Amino acid sequence: MAEETIFSKIIRQEIPTELLYQDELVTAFRDISPQANTHILIIPNKLIPTVNDIEADDELAMGRLFTVAKTLAAQEGIAEDGFRLIMNCNRHGGQEVYHIHMHLVGGEPLGKMLSKS
Ligand code: 5GP
Repeated sequence: MAEETIFSKIIRQEIPTELLYQDELVTAFRDISPQANTHILIIPNKLIPTVNDIEADDELAMGRLFTVAKTLAAQEGIAEDGFRLIMNCNRHGGQEVYHIHMHLVGGEPLGKMLSKS
């Protein structure tokens, strides 16, 4: 059994967070340390630590991450100009919280896709 992270408390609404969306599969909320004008995290309610741990049964929730990202991008008014969806995995990917999450970032030009800094 994987160890819970702060994101499980956010899903259960045990700590104050501005929830943007929640259903039976996923939850979305603003990143605490935004890296762009819009920076939202969309996560499965099920604790899946990394992309390496996704199973076939998770495909519905994984698809839901994208449909919620699309809806929130439109709500934020960033859909037309564009945005970036990011999911980091493990050490080389720069993952810090071991409950998978899709970053939805935009609201300004984001520059090159990869930075080696
Ligand atoms: P990672 O590096 O794992 O892909 O991204 C983790 C993200 O979670 C970071 O962007 C970080 O700012 C965000 N984060 C970490 N702890 C919290 C928290 O308690 N609340 C919110 N809203 N975001 C968090």
